[in-house]
Amino acid sequence: MHYDNITGSYNSNALLTGNEAIALGAHKAGVYIATGYPGTPSSEILPFLAKFDSAIVNWSINEKTALEIAIGASIGFKRSMFTTKHVGLNVASDPLMTLTLTGVRGGLVIVTADDPGMHSSQNEQDNRLYAKFAKIPMLEPSDSEECLNFTAIAFDICEKFDAPVILRTTTRISHSRSIVSLSDIPSIPCILNLNSNLNFCNNTHINKNKPYKKDIEKFVMAPVYARKRHKSAIERLKYLTDFSNNSGINKIEYNSLDLGIITGGISYQYAKEIAPSASFLKLSFSYPVPDILVKEFVKNIKNVIIIEELEPFIQNEISSLGINLKGKEYFPRDGELNPGLVKQGLAEAKFFITPENYPGTGAAYESGNKNDNEINFNDPENILETLPPRLPALCSGCPHTSVFYALKKLKVPVMGDIGCYTLGALPPLNAMDSCISMGLAFGAAQGLSLAKSSGKRTAGIMGDSTFFHSGITSLIDAKYNNASFTAIILDNATTAMTGGQDHPGTGKNLSLNQSISNKIDIKKIIEGIGVDEIYIIDPYDYNDTFKTLKKALNSDNLNVVITNRPCILYPKKLNCEKKFEVLEGCLGCDLCMQIGCPSILASSDFNPSNNKRLPFIDTSCIGCSICKDICIFNFIEEIK
Ligand code: SF4
Ligand code: SF4
Repeated sequence: MHYDNITGSYNSNALLTGNEAIALGAHKAGVYIATGYPGTPSSEILPFLAKFDSAIVNWSINEKTALEIAIGASIGFKRSMFTTKHVGLNVASDPLMTLTLTGVRGGLVIVTADDPGMHSSQNEQDNRLYAKFAKIPMLEPSDSEECLNFTAIAFDICEKFDAPVILRTTTRISHSRSIVSLSDIPSIPCILNLNSNLNFCNNTHINKNKPYKKDIEKFVMAPVYARKRHKSAIERLKYLTDFSNNSGINKIEYNSLDLGIITGGISYQYAKEIAPSASFLKLSFSYPVPDILVKEFVKNIKNVIIIEELEPFIQNEISSLGINLKGKEYFPRDGELNPGLVKQGLAEAKFFITPENYPGTGAAYESGNKNDNEINFNDPENILETLPPRLPALCSGCPHTSVFYALKKLKVPVMGDIGCYTLGALPPLNAMDSCISMGLAFGAAQGLSLAKSSGKRTAGIMGDSTFFHSGITSLIDAKYNNASFTAIILDNATTAMTGGQDHPGTGKNLSLNQSISNKIDIKKIIEGIGVDEIYIIDPYDYNDTFKTLKKALNSDNLNVVITNRPCILYPKKLNCEKKFEVLEGCLGCDLCMQIGCPSILASSDFNPSNNKRLPFIDTSCIGCSICKDICIFNFIEEIK
């Protein structure tokens, strides 16, 4: 029996996450180059694709650059893919909104992984709206098999319609595993059997080895050419609508003629589970919406409702056809849907006529709050409800801990950014005042310092990966504009929050894994910008960290403080032998608890003289020694 060590499969099927299936689809479609910036829930696509060793696969410094590289490859007649989380498409939206006019040569697939419910994001946005905004086609898979197949055919669709294609997933699709067939990828019949109505351009089935050719009318978007191309992009929508109706990607599943549901993506799975006897119009090619299919479905089914996560996107598109269906009246516009919410919404809509249409049972289908009397504690589906609430925290020994503790003591306003270090805003550290978007911190620090409203010097703080992503530009701006604040770069030599991906400061990349020759030195960049006052600190030395930050914050110059300790988890978990303990006599003053280290816990013992609860340090301690420095009474010591 053959074992495939990339997919972990012994036969013609494999159990893959949506992200892995997208990578496999791109591999099967012959993608030549794939780029992206790590962001949950999209981060696993590129590392999985890199395992096939069939394409150039690399992280870029940010999403805009990643899309630009993919565009260049497409202009060179190569298939390319760009992956991002939903907010990353905002960063790449500048090239995207003109790429929509130029169109493509080699297929260019844009994978956007949205995060309804904000499991790991600073906002919740529905990137289906980008497809409409950019007038480009969009595919939405509902499981891993569709992730694989839709990715593969998306390249054909790009080349057929001279347009980039958005492949939109959501967290549940990206991270859930389901079975995919490893046999040949299916083709969409109408792509191969060309129907003249669906022909938009001559790119179809391009020869991927075509030599580069100049075409300024297509790729130089000066107004004189851009005006023409915009008309073409509008014209293209008619052909795409035909394709949406006729390609077979959108499907009607007839069942009960009384009850019909129009849906797509993960919402299809929830609806199918709750109302299996309903008829379905499953929109997988969800933009442009297939007008003829919608009309046919509505004509044949008595009661039709729309179930979709986040915005009323399908509902508005169908409403623009003059067909008014209900949807968002019964389902929330924010957060994730789940079978319970779908059941509740369908019940409110009086969608269920007989109990047979109402198959969902068990706690997973019930929504709303329960009190303890109603919770079955033996039911694993209730486990989340039985856990005490707990705030997320930095890891034991995280090198960011001491910096935030020092900033808290120094009581300065801190403009923050996006990464693990955003947790510095939460109790007990409480040392960050804003966190809005990637690379914002230094720009916001400049603005707040100019506002002079805090009466204090401002700090801006971001990680190394964020600095490369988009922090560099705002530091250049700060120097250019004579700004005065303290810029802190928490350099832990990785992109920790998304799973430890490389960046220019590590000098490695997916296709260049062994190379350390292209390592970019953050300090040299800052010197190059012309900032003279630069401090390098070891954050495991709390006293020096505090002293240096205090000095930097007392300066009138623009200055930069860079930390130099790696993340304890990436690239490999540090197993520091040095462990610490709380000594007898501890006063129970609570100081060490204020750094938020998860290894320091409240014990059941009390100090007899003041009745204060005593801390203890558990075995997860990695021995960073920060707490030893914090305990000014010297009751924390290394275990000998
Ligand atoms: S993963 Fe690394 S950077 Fe993130 S909290 Fe843990 S130690 Fe800190
Ligand atoms: S030394 Fe102290 S602060 Fe560091 S990991 Fe151990 S308990 Fe936490």
